[in-house]
Amino acid sequence: MSFQVFGIAVSRGVAIGRAVLVASSRVDVAHYFVATDQLHAEFDRLLRARDAVAQELETLKAELPEDAPHELAALLDVHLMLLHDEAFTGGAGQWIFERHYNAEWALSAQLEVLARQFDEMEDDYLRERKADLEQVVERVLGALAHAQGDAPATVAARDFAGEDPLLLVAADIAPADMIQFKRSVFRGFITDIGGKTSHTAIVARSLDIPAVVGTREASRLIMQDDWVIIDGDAGTVIVNPSPIVLEEYRFRQRQSELERARLARLRHTPAVTLDGEHIELHANIEMPADAEAAVAAGATGVGLFRSEFLFMNREGELPSEDEQFAAYKAAVEAMKGMPVTIRTVDVGADKPLDRLTANELRHEHVLNPAMGLRAIRWSLAEPSMFRQQLRAIYRASAFGKVRLLIPMVAHLSEVRQILETVRKVQQQLTDAGHAYTRVELGVMIEIPAAAVMLPLLLRHVDFVSIGTNDLIQYTLAIDRADEAVAHLYDPWHPAVLQLIHQSIAQARAAGKGVSVCGEMAGDPDFTELLLAMGLRSFSMHPSQIPAVKQRVLRADSQRLAMALTRVLDSEDPRGTADKELASVRAGAPVH
Ligand code: PEP
Ligand code: MG
Repeated sequence: MSFQVFGIAVSRGVAIGRAVLVASSRVDVAHYFVATDQLHAEFDRLLRARDAVAQELETLKAELPEDAPHELAALLDVHLMLLHDEAFTGGAGQWIFERHYNAEWALSAQLEVLARQFDEMEDDYLRERKADLEQVVERVLGALAHAQGDAPATVAARDFAGEDPLLLVAADIAPADMIQFKRSVFRGFITDIGGKTSHTAIVARSLDIPAVVGTREASRLIMQDDWVIIDGDAGTVIVNPSPIVLEEYRFRQRQSELERARLARLRHTPAVTLDGEHIELHANIEMPADAEAAVAAGATGVGLFRSEFLFMNREGELPSEDEQFAAYKAAVEAMKGMPVTIRTVDVGADKPLDRLTANELRHEHVLNPAMGLRAIRWSLAEPSMFRQQLRAIYRASAFGKVRLLIPMVAHLSEVRQILETVRKVQQQLTDAGHAYTRVELGVMIEIPAAAVMLPLLLRHVDFVSIGTNDLIQYTLAIDRADEAVAHLYDPWHPAVLQLIHQSIAQARAAGKGVSVCGEMAGDPDFTELLLAMGLRSFSMHPSQIPAVKQRVLRADSQRLAMALTRVLDSEDPRGTADKELASVRAGAPVH
């Protein structure tokens, strides 16, 4: 039966493929294809892991003390029975042989299928056996991970016929897990949780594949292997589409691929407006390897390197100074003399250090994580970690143009502490004989207080970068990761526009650099408005650069500036911008 699920569009385009349901807790399980000639070996690896677990359970059972409650032995029997059930390994085997999934992936795919069957059982006792099944799968996954000398199958090139594109469906994906899907087998994402600028959505956008978040129940309604269309422009998901609908979307998919190819030809065209203003189009990156895509997309620098992704998923062990230095140096060298703006670690809120999903965070962790110990607050609370990061950043400055950016600044006292720490770090590097050059210091404007007191901050820094994702969140008191209030998260809100406009104007008047690195910078719907406000430096995901560049090339910044007041004074800025700024684009006279 065909049906639709509605969510929030976060990454454009159309994806058509089969659903792969992954439980949030198992998103980090490896997903890769196994080469045809290794399928039997992969299935044997699974069977060996199963046998190892069976052996372990038999031993546990044999060693149960005489007086152990008999439920314990019964429980071990249930686990053994599940383990030997044909639906378990036989089902997983099918995923291996028919779909070429690796053993871990096959096991989690089969778990999803069986878990649904348990959910539908009438009998309470049987329904509750789902938890046992999950424990058994957990044990086998553990055995696969620990199998000595039992090398997993090599990752296959996509080398077998009949392969369908795969779309990942999960209740929630933590940003740290999302990052692992760069260059993965998935061609699209659907999650139940999340808002348009949640970090999971931001990473999905950086992967440049269609994604819809905040669907609330896609992971419950969609079945493993269902045919699914993701409409990343409208934010809808069509499950089991009819042939006519499928054909229509295949047509749209081809159109959007052609459009991308057309825009990609702008790669080497300088971003200059019709009236001769040069615009910097920089890239937002999460990993040094992303710098390559930035250069390929025609970025003229990195405007935001979200360094926190180097700190995640490490089970408490933070990256050393040398490890960080190597990462920053790699990004700087890849950018070949173009500036690289490294933001100090911004963990906390929806970017926890360890693997917590947004839901777990919201319900189990901190009361108000977005207002808690995140970003610079955390760095200043961990001075030796902060100094270590600054040393690594300064050392990278010997290899190219590095700029230092501090997130979530709200107090002058924080800026003073940062400057003091920078002085200390420079002294340490000099004493240790490490080379470094001058590094410009910038702060992010993402808390309204910082925007309101900007003239004071500007006395101490070289540049500012406006983080519109958080600025909107804190100005409107809307959790950016919460789909329940996503409809109120409004970049067009007059208060938000005023703060952005004031910040740009004040920074320019003080002769300091100003850029926007939040999602608004990469959304072509805002390019003309930001140009009208005087913005000349934008930073965005590399994939968004061509579309924004196209808008820049067609813009007349002076004529746009003349229309700005009418937009800012309007009760309906969006409608007015559509009318006023679009008419400038069309070349109509400005009054
Ligand atoms: C922002 O808040 O706009 C920003 C760029 O930082 P992040 O999205 O990483 O919080
Ligand atoms: Mg931010």
